[in-house]
Amino acid sequence: MNLPWITPLQEALNERLDHDRLGHAPLIQGPAGVGKRRLARWLVHRLLCLQPADGQPCGQCRACELLDKGTHPDHFQVRIPEDKKEIPVDSVRAFNAQLQLTGSISERRVGLIEPAEAMNTNAANALLKTLEEPAANAWLVLVSDRPGRLPATIRSRCQPISVRPPDHDIALQWLEGSGPAVDSSRRLQALTLAGGAPLAAVRLLEAGGLDFGFQIRSSLLALAQGQGVDQVLSEEWTQEARSTWQWLALWTERATKQRMMAGGDEALDMPIGTAPPATAMAELWQQALEGAALSATSARQDLLLGKWLLEWKSVCQQGR
Ligand SMILES: [Zn+2]
Repeated sequence: MNLPWITPLQEALNERLDHDRLGHAPLIQGPAGVGKRRLARWLVHRLLCLQPADGQPCGQCRACELLDKGTHPDHFQVRIPEDKKEIPVDSVRAFNAQLQLTGSISERRVGLIEPAEAMNTNAANALLKTLEEPAANAWLVLVSDRPGRLPATIRSRCQPISVRPPDHDIALQWLEGSGPAVDSSRRLQALTLAGGAPLAAVRLLEAGGLDFGFQIRSSLLALAQGQGVDQVLSEEWTQEARSTWQWLALWTERATKQRMMAGGDEALDMPIGTAPPATAMAELWQQALEGAALSATSARQDLLLGKWLLEWKSVCQQGR
C-alpha cells in the first residue's frame, strides 16, 4: 500500500541524510492512522540498507532481507510488553546496551521505540542518557501519537518529524483505491470519524465495520436518555471487545468536541443534551483507550464494559 502523502517527508529525510544533517533521534509524530509507523519502518530500512538507490532502500541486500524477516542484528525495538500497560525501565536499559554495540552487518545501528509515550518515568530517564550521548553511528527512531505526553527533556533532544493527514480529496481518493470496498458515503463517514487520517479510516471500516460503530452510538445515546445498561450491552460487544472500546473512545471524543466539529452528517453527531462535565468525559475517553489496549488480556470484558457504560450513563445524566 503506497502512501503518497509521506513521499515528501521521505524526500526531506533523504536530503538531510545525504548532507549529514539527520539528527540521531528523529521523533515521528502525528495523529493515529496517518502512516507514522510506515515512515518509521522506511527510515529504519533506509538507514540500514547496504546499497540504497535513488534514496530508497534496495529491498534485496542482506540487510533489507534480514529486516524483512525481523532478524537484523543491528536493529532493536522497544514496545509495550504483552503483559504490561507501559514500557518499563528494563526494556530501555537492554535497548541502550544493544545500541552501544558495534554494528555487525551495517555500519549503523538503529533502534525503534513505539509508542514512545508509553515509556514510564524511569524508562524515559534511562533513555535520556542515550539521547544526551548518542553512540557513533547509532540512530534512535521514536514514534508517537501523543508526543505531548513525552517528558520535555526527551522531546527537546529529538528532531520532530510531523506526519499530518493528507488533503481531504487525496485521502478520499486513496481510500477508494486502497481501502475496503464500501460505498462512497461510508468512505466519507469513516474518513470524517477518523479526523481525516486515512489508515485510521481503514481501521474503522474493518473494526466490525461502521454498522457496528453506529449500533454502539445508538446505545450510548439511549443510555444518555436513561435506558439501562443491561438493555444495551450485548454479547457481541464483549466478543469484539477491542473494537467496542475503540468505538466507545471515538464516540466519547465526538460527544466532548461536538460543538467544535463541523456538522454536515447528523449520523456522526452525539446529541447527548447539555454538555456533561469535561473532566469526567476526558476520564471516560482515557478509560476506553486503556480498555482497547488491554482487551487482549484475560480481564472480564463484560464487567469492565458494564462498569464503563454505567459511568457513561451517570456522566451524561449529570449534564442534563
Ligand atoms: Zn538494501
